[in-house]
Amino acid sequence: MTADVNETRICTVCGRRFGWQKRWARNWSEVRVCSERCRRSRPRRSDRALEGKILELLEARAATSSICPSEAARAVAGDEWRDWMERTRSAARRLAAAGRIQITQRGQPVDPATARGPIRLRLARS
Ligand SMILES: [Zn+2]
Repeated sequence: MTADVNETRICTVCGRRFGWQKRWARNWSEVRVCSERCRRSRPRRSDRALEGKILELLEARAATSSICPSEAARAVAGDEWRDWMERTRSAARRLAAAGRIQITQRGQPVDPATARGPIRLRLARS
């Protein structure tokens, strides 16, 4: 099978978009994560809990309203929430990749793979 070197994928761990690299020449069809770091840190139970909390917080509100990722981090991690922010953003990117939520900036959906700066989360509109 020939590898499609122009194909991009969403990392199943951090939710960022990544493309083909030479080191994957033999097994590109099986690659699901963007980096060695992500390969070593597959989502744990607590990361799934973050995904669940994001959806729970959003479903408790009007369909049009949004939350700050820190609200989910605080709800899951309490006083340690700051240490959980990157994991919370990764959980949000996974949910966005799965089509469950949208990541927005200034009220507009953005590509979670490339967004920089403060983001908000809302349920995906069907
Ligand atoms: Zn990754």
